[in-house]
Amino acid sequence: MAKGKLKPCPLCGSPHIERGFDEYISDGFIGVVFKIRCQECGMELNEVGMACTDRAVKKWNRREGEENKNPAGAGLEQIAMGASASEGQD
Ligand SMILES: [Zn+2]
Repeated sequence: MAKGKLKPCPLCGSPHIERGFDEYISDGFIGVVFKIRCQECGMELNEVGMACTDRAVKKWNRREGEENKNPAGAGLEQIAMGASASEGQD
């Protein structure tokens, strides 16, 4: 899948970014953490939980000042309208 493409490191601009899952133990439970890490400067981003890969990639790719350019929910309206379109004509 093409989704999840990473931008270069926000700190040093290096394109050499590695990512992968790692395990951690907390209170006797084993959890999975998704890590994105710059091989040049070592900047690291960890994300835990549902959809952690998507969230981590979004966070990594987010740059200062860009947060309000894509309002959350844009595009959802169309999907909702399409889903509720009724063909129940008799
Ligand atoms: Zn870096």
